[in-house]
Amino acid sequence: MDHGRTVWPSIRTPAALKLDLLCCGLRLGARCQHSALRDRIVRNRAGLASGLDVVLPGGLVVNAAFVEPHCQESPYVLDLSGQPRLVHEDCPEEMISVRLEPTPVWYGLCTQSGLPMRDVASKQGSYLAVYWGDRCANWTRKEQCHFCTQGCNWGAADAINKQAADVLETIDVARRCQHLTFVHINAGFDDAGRDVEHDLALIRQIKRRGLYVGYQVPPIADTEVYRQLKAAGVDNLSICPEFFSDAAFKRWCPGKERREGRDRFYQAMTVAAGEVGFKTVNGEIIAGLEPIDETIAGVRWMCERGIVPTVCAFRPLRGSLLQDAPAPSPAALLPAFRELYRCCMQAGLPIGVAPGIRVAIVMTPDEAAGLQGPRAAWPVQRAALAARRLAALADSRCRRWMARPRV
Ligand code: SF4
Repeated sequence: MDHGRTVWPSIRTPAALKLDLLCCGLRLGARCQHSALRDRIVRNRAGLASGLDVVLPGGLVVNAAFVEPHCQESPYVLDLSGQPRLVHEDCPEEMISVRLEPTPVWYGLCTQSGLPMRDVASKQGSYLAVYWGDRCANWTRKEQCHFCTQGCNWGAADAINKQAADVLETIDVARRCQHLTFVHINAGFDDAGRDVEHDLALIRQIKRRGLYVGYQVPPIADTEVYRQLKAAGVDNLSICPEFFSDAAFKRWCPGKERREGRDRFYQAMTVAAGEVGFKTVNGEIIAGLEPIDETIAGVRWMCERGIVPTVCAFRPLRGSLLQDAPAPSPAALLPAFRELYRCCMQAGLPIGVAPGIRVAIVMTPDEAAGLQGPRAAWPVQRAALAARRLAALADSRCRRWMARPRV
């Protein structure tokens, strides 16, 4: 029995289970129809989404891979012979009841221009993710980030010619089918230069619907543009340095290194969180490809500057240059996720505040609370966060009521 490769048997919380599944994925039991489950995968997200959204005990949702080769080594088996449940091969007597997120009804619909809505946006956890713009120029120049699959998705699972009207129509239909509070827009590099006016116009339209908006693009040199984005209503800005180690950045992100270099990403986050003052700035960092002490140093660096780290467990996706790399062990990543929660609480960062947002493809800092020992309780900070959550919920309801369609 090797409990060192997973964290579930020793910690036994939904967060531990989520971390295991993010790293190991799952195997399908005998009664699972592989092809039917495969059809549920929506891949239009650069480096993470490749599996099933599974709702765990406590309501946490995780995107668990199952088609990638490393999943065949997973100790978790999905059993669909009755009520869906997970079985860990080291403790088969312990059945973990789960739920599969249903495929959104709107995935079967098309926009008025004829684009399948599932190629315009994807439901990730509870929010909508929209890739916005051309194929990332790093792919065109064959210098893509080694973990990334955006270039495979674009034109396959991600519509090439989507217009703002397609995105807005998809959002409107999705809102009628599900509780939606947040839309996340992301894009790669564009050699012609980013058309920010185009982005701003879309953002303003989404804000008119009373939704939160996240925006994730490569660093922007002109601080004034960040101010415009903030004024247009961007609630959350994400910047993706991917690594804290310069060596890892150079090795795994050749296009980013040639165009910007690691330090530009860190500078941009500092400016956005400090001088510009977005409500939240996230810094995306990948755990599992650089020494874990570097990732932990990156988490600390960001938190000290008011930036909320988004720590992604590396996943060797099919179609990426790292598709044959080994997946990280959850036990090896555990210290980074523990530090994520500890540093966010210590810095008083607004984690888990925006209402109605459940994230499947990463472990959020507030979810990482479930990985701590009992001593890390942070009662004062948790009370402050609870108050902020209530205020944000009231604000969100008010905005959505104001933006409701009037007939
Ligand atoms: S910048 Fe890197 S991770 Fe982002 S889309 Fe381009 S190749 Fe992929």
